[in-house]
Amino acid sequence: MSEIKKKLFDNLKGLKHQSGTHSPSFHEIKRIGIDVLIDACFLSNPYATDLFIKHLDLDLVRTNKLRDYLELYPSQNRKIAKYLENRLNINPENIFIGNGAIEIIQAVLHRFVRGSISVPVPTFSSYYEFAQSDTIVHLYQLNKDNDYSIDLSDYRDFIVKNGIRNAVLINPNNPNGSYVCQRDIRRFLDECKELDHVILDESFIHFANDGDGLLVSNERLINEYPNLVLVKSLSKDFGIAGVRCGYAIMSASKVTELLSNGYLWNSSGLSEYFFQLYSRDEFFCDYLEVRKKYINLTDIMYGQLSSLRGIRVMKSNANFFLIEILDGRSSFEIFSHLLVDFGIYVRDCGDKIGLEGEYIRLASRSQEENEKIVYAFKKLFEDYSS
Ligand SMILES: *Cc1c(COP(=O)(O)O)cnc(C)c1O
Repeated sequence: MSEIKKKLFDNLKGLKHQSGTHSPSFHEIKRIGIDVLIDACFLSNPYATDLFIKHLDLDLVRTNKLRDYLELYPSQNRKIAKYLENRLNINPENIFIGNGAIEIIQAVLHRFVRGSISVPVPTFSSYYEFAQSDTIVHLYQLNKDNDYSIDLSDYRDFIVKNGIRNAVLINPNNPNGSYVCQRDIRRFLDECKELDHVILDESFIHFANDGDGLLVSNERLINEYPNLVLVKSLSKDFGIAGVRCGYAIMSASKVTELLSNGYLWNSSGLSEYFFQLYSRDEFFCDYLEVRKKYINLTDIMYGQLSSLRGIRVMKSNANFFLIEILDGRSSFEIFSHLLVDFGIYVRDCGDKIGLEGEYIRLASRSQEENEKIVYAFKKLFEDYSS
């Protein structure tokens, strides 16, 4: 390896170390002199971002209305929740708008979760990292032999056996994309009625296929399960992480409690614009098209990657793949090679609790980008093993 490359690898190691359980940002990587050409670490649909920008341009920029959205205060939380009423077909009193789903996770863990909480791992780390210091976090280890997919009846036994009061379920799960169908979710909720809260994070549900290819929507379950807290980020499916949009569905009393303790003006003007846009049928139809296109591209990518030697690509019902490296190299080595040699940024899962082995997580991107990614994987693995 050349001296320059060695230095870059060392700098990367330092950056990775500083970022703890999250990935260094795109900007930080650029600062140490690496050109990121494809960001396959961040999990979003680039075609949905294009669609959002197209509308933003037509509705706000060309009409000179952008100023209003930047200069004036946005509406209050309840007013923005009303934009979702028709789209989700539920009572707006059950909707809480978050400045990204992450704000909601923090609010729920700090305000409502008391005593103990169960979190299946590997998963999105905020659910155990943001727990209050006096909350006991029970990590439920998912089984590698099962590709880390969850067995809900075993999970429920774990909850009962340990007397746990609150449960987290992320569906599809991040980082492996495993998916539980709606019927099983319902059965789990039936069996967990006595818990204080069941937090169901559906941030990737738009990428899932429950058999008919239609959008899966569980928001209406709040009418049957008052202890349900459904968390939904819009960053990934709509490709708008920078706008910070998320919502949660919960009992009306919990929404009221949150709003009487802050969060009244937690959205930005642009986030309010997004929720207005989302309520428009014409935008929603266009969105369903780019959703379908992107899911198809992701399926194609799976087919191409899963035939490669030296890796195992897990089946996923989300827009990313957990990939086990089987040729003896570490996840950091693969991460660094992809970045330095090909400009492709992926998630090195070396810090993820609950993973046994060497893994990276790879997001699906645009058609052209996916082709470049598959080419890089071929180079990196086929040439290495032959
Ligand atoms: C990304 C992510 C979130 C947070 O998303 P926001 O950008 O804060 O809306 C929440 N849950 C899961 C499972 C995620 O992957």
